[in-house]
Amino acid sequence: MTNCPVCGGAVEISDDPVEGELLECPECGSELEILGLDPIALGEAPTAEEDWGE
Ligand SMILES: [Zn+2]
Repeated sequence: MTNCPVCGGAVEISDDPVEGELLECPECGSELEILGLDPIALGEAPTAEEDWGE
């Protein structure tokens, strides 16, 4: 369990987290990425949806 970097809410991490794994914050719905494992560090995942303006 760690905290969302966006809203500070509790985010559940799987038992076997992998760097680069994507999670969704249950509190604010932000997409989060595991940036580091020791200690667990979360960051906002890059939003690669439809914002690929050229
Ligand atoms: Zn959040």
